[in-house]
Amino acid sequence: MQELLKTLDPDLVLVEAFIDDKKIELHARKETSEEACPYCGEKSRGVHSVYHNNISDLPVQEKLLTIILERRVFFCKNPECDHARFPETLPFATRYGRRTIRLDEKIREIALNMSARSAKKVINKGIARISDDTILRILKKTS
Ligand SMILES: [Zn+2]
Repeated sequence: MQELLKTLDPDLVLVEAFIDDKKIELHARKETSEEACPYCGEKSRGVHSVYHNNISDLPVQEKLLTIILERRVFFCKNPECDHARFPETLPFATRYGRRTIRLDEKIREIALNMSARSAKKVINKGIARISDDTILRILKKTS
């Protein structure tokens, strides 16, 4: 499971894994001491807070996979920057950190080849629990 996280981001570290018949939950955190503010580029080591960010990833052995990331929010100390705080960047996840980019690519691949209704059925059966709206949004975003 640690290797699986490393394929997403080499800085991800597995804290704990929970596995049952249907799902896998990987609790993880990013092991970096500083992060660059995405708005101004200034590096920061000051952690403001930590929250749980659940990110759906591709299933493993037909089990739904969720990464529960302890995502840190850093202070930006650049006085010229408009943002006092920023969450650590996750290059492998979608904008709001709900899904991995590789999961979105898989969903898109399925949805492009069938009707929205069939796609929803196939995707929700073993890939990810998502709504029609989300499927449509993924199709729009990447086409
Ligand atoms: Zn900044």
